[in-house]
Amino acid sequence: MSPNIAALWHRLPTDLNTLVSDCIHGGCQSVHGPDTGYVFFRADDVAVPGKQFSRMMELFATCGVPLSLAVVPAALTRPRWQYLNGFERTNPGRWCWHQHGWRHVNHETEGKKQEFGATRTPAALQRDLVQGKMRLERIMGERFYPVFTPPWNRCSRRTLELLKELGYAAVSRSRGSKTALPGGLPDYYVNVDLHTRKEKRPAEGWKNLFAELTQAFTSRHCGIMIHHRMMNAAAFDFLEILLKTLADNPKLKLVHFKDMAESAVIL
Ligand SMILES: [Zn+2]
Repeated sequence: MSPNIAALWHRLPTDLNTLVSDCIHGGCQSVHGPDTGYVFFRADDVAVPGKQFSRMMELFATCGVPLSLAVVPAALTRPRWQYLNGFERTNPGRWCWHQHGWRHVNHETEGKKQEFGATRTPAALQRDLVQGKMRLERIMGERFYPVFTPPWNRCSRRTLELLKELGYAAVSRSRGSKTALPGGLPDYYVNVDLHTRKEKRPAEGWKNLFAELTQAFTSRHCGIMIHHRMMNAAAFDFLEILLKTLADNPKLKLVHFKDMAESAVIL
């Protein structure tokens, strides 16, 4: 087995269409009242063109589903941007291009990996945030939207305060992040992880993934994290089923970060 592909993507359940459909409908039915559930997809580690990136973009375009793309600023060049920006050009509102760290490197010497952790000085954090934002603004122009996805989904309290001070619209971490947010900075957190799963056995991976999806639909906030470079053919098959099933459900609103910020979704 490839170390980069999670166990569940080596064995798809045979009745996958039914499982996905039942999971989504079951979650939606448990929501009372007229409120709509929000669903967004966040693709991480974007910068380098490749077959998996292209396939992901074509899938979202075909299914008509918005996508938030977390771009590593130091890895983005103008030629790469020309390529990345070449999908569904007539409908640029499909995509929300935002910032994923600066260089996506770990600065911690112990504990969990972080690029914007508490061991770094405020000046270093600010420098890396600002140069990342400026680089993306310079290359992407108006396509850039100021939301920050910290590498490994975590960052220090000082980083969150800087995001607020620097005018970012939101941060996107994972569900249950402990570091408290400053007032006025929303967290468009992800609560479903498709590709960086650690389960050793496929059955365990599927059980946990469907539990995450059910929790997410029941809570009316479903943020799904994608790592396209860790996707095999089975992972693309699943994503296609998921996108088509979601797009067919009138109780769900498919959005990206700019949609969420502009509609003042309270999370
Ligand atoms: Zn990342």
